[in-house]
Amino acid sequence: MKQPIYLDHHATTPVDPRVLEAMLPVFKTDFGNAQSPHHAFGEKAKTLVEKARGHLASLIGCEPEEIIFTSGATESNNLAIEGVCEAYRERGNHVITCVTEHSSVLETCERLERQGVDVTFLPVEEDGRISLETLKKDVTSKTILITIMMANNEIGVLQPIREIAQFAKERGILFHTDATQAVGQMPVNVTEDGIHLLSFSAHKMYGPKGVGALYVRSKNPRVRIVPLMDGGGHEKGLRPGTLNVPGIVGFGEACAICKKEMKEEARRLKALRDRLKEQILNNLEGVTVNGSWEHRLSNNLNMSFSYVEGESLLKSFDTIAVSSSSACTSVHLKVSYVLKALGLPEELIHSSLRFGLGRFNTEEEIDYVAEKVVENVKRLRSMSTLYEIAQEGAKDYILARLPGEKLSVEGGK
Ligand code: PMP
Repeated sequence: MKQPIYLDHHATTPVDPRVLEAMLPVFKTDFGNAQSPHHAFGEKAKTLVEKARGHLASLIGCEPEEIIFTSGATESNNLAIEGVCEAYRERGNHVITCVTEHSSVLETCERLERQGVDVTFLPVEEDGRISLETLKKDVTSKTILITIMMANNEIGVLQPIREIAQFAKERGILFHTDATQAVGQMPVNVTEDGIHLLSFSAHKMYGPKGVGALYVRSKNPRVRIVPLMDGGGHEKGLRPGTLNVPGIVGFGEACAICKKEMKEEARRLKALRDRLKEQILNNLEGVTVNGSWEHRLSNNLNMSFSYVEGESLLKSFDTIAVSSSSACTSVHLKVSYVLKALGLPEELIHSSLRFGLGRFNTEEEIDYVAEKVVENVKRLRSMSTLYEIAQEGAKDYILARLPGEKLSVEGGK
């Protein structure tokens, strides 16, 4: 078994060898600029880009012309939200989003707020999902955009996308979704799901880093966006700049592979993820599973371990790569705002781990990880005075919650 074992696939995924194989010729021989189709090099590059565009479109159920290549989902989110606000300014100035969105959505909304746009940040329920009723109440005649993520990057919770889309359609409001964690993991069809704009990224689906896309619906209705940058008119003038042809070719190949293998892969990962959860729960008390179990990505498990300090727990794994919250928030050493939004007490937020399973994980690895988690939590608890007190009688001192159960914080905490 190769170590360290990688279980942080929500942060990024390894490049699939087949993706790398498809990209290599673009660095060596097919290096042309896709904007120079008047000679053979440019023409080849353009052909490769359009083939990749077709693979992206086929994976999410849209027309190739509706795909705009970007540098990643961060840029796609910025372009979608700012682009819509700018283009529909005469129609209204109200945007609805949610408190557990990725920082690239939250901070874009906060910037727009400083510029005078009205933004509603919807709360989430204890299971991490928004309430449709609350959303409906918050809509005004000035609402132009609802932006709610498809799957959360920390707890893997899926939002009720179809219901939101249906409601947005009835009210004539545009609906954008950040589907970065969902595309390639589960079926996504922008036409059937009623989505107007959708962001996704290659490096979350075994493609390279630094390339993403924004789907912008071209009919029923035709969605308008204003570009964030000025330049050479690439991507229908919506995203200027020389195209990252190797990245785009890799992204295309990654999509083609996901389209073929996604169903079987999701089934396999779900079984492994459930195995990991069971082995931990069967061997440890005081473990909380965070977020809805029913509405969840098949490769995500997020758990809190009472009486253990998260940072120490994380450090105890020299042979396992996991995350204590999202990669983006852990650099800033802030507590997870996603777990906070679920109403989790601070000590449980600090003791949380995110397991993100992926394509190359094996059953042997999962068994090893479960064993290590149990071993390390037990060892850290054996050094905790609080745990000792709890063990000595006050059973209700232990913060524990099974999936779906209400969190009970009792016993003087
Ligand atoms: N949205 C979500 C839900 C994500 O998980 C991420 C990556 N952490 C992003 C957006 C940003 O994607 P990128 O790294 O491609 O900019």
